[in-house]
Amino acid sequence: MIFSKFLKQYCLCCGSAELAQTFLCQLCRVRLQFVAHYAHCLCCSELLFVEANQSKCGRCLKDPPYFQETHACFIYEALIAHLIQGLKFSGRLQVLPFLVEEMTEALKKSYGERPFPDLIIPVPLQYSGQFKRGFNQAHELGRRLAKNLSMPYSSLVAHKTQGTQAQARLTKKERVRNLKGHFQIQKMQGVKSVALIDDVMTTGSTLRELAHALHQAGVEEVHLWVVARARL
Ligand SMILES: [Zn+2]
Ligand SMILES: [Zn+2]
Repeated sequence: MIFSKFLKQYCLCCGSAELAQTFLCQLCRVRLQFVAHYAHCLCCSELLFVEANQSKCGRCLKDPPYFQETHACFIYEALIAHLIQGLKFSGRLQVLPFLVEEMTEALKKSYGERPFPDLIIPVPLQYSGQFKRGFNQAHELGRRLAKNLSMPYSSLVAHKTQGTQAQARLTKKERVRNLKGHFQIQKMQGVKSVALIDDVMTTGSTLRELAHALHQAGVEEVHLWVVARARL
């Protein structure tokens, strides 16, 4: 049968053949860790100690960021890291539908009856390597999520104003300095709340800086939507 090999599903993570129309095999699926299953900060999504009887982490209480909520689907561990890195660095686009589907479900659950923000925007290209690849995973995630959730999307709102050094190679302090004043936000009519999309939130310094810039441009509420939240 010439078509049978196209109909077979392979696990995105380990490559084993699956009969069901799922993205991951059963063994890989049980390894997924959802942020929603753990006590986490409602503002930045960092995991909290269960005993700590609070809804926000110490950092957000002490120094509230310019974003109000973070919705992270997964904890950033080996399996998710493998998938996201495959997407970013090896152009494994088949990972996208899985991530978007999981994010869509997680967002619907976490917002419940509450409305989604007015507009989805992606984190602009930060790393020069992305220009070379011509691929911005935040943009690819954002436009697919917007379609799934019937929301407006724009990739033209936030711009990087000059060449910042790749964040990954810098210390935490340098990261903040590296980003200061590097984002330009286009004025938006009637947009009071924004969902800012990125793949992984680590220290969140880029997202903090962007949320600040959006706030200065008159956006009242910034929600971060990320695929995965790294444990700090
Ligand atoms: Zn598998
Ligand atoms: Zn927090």
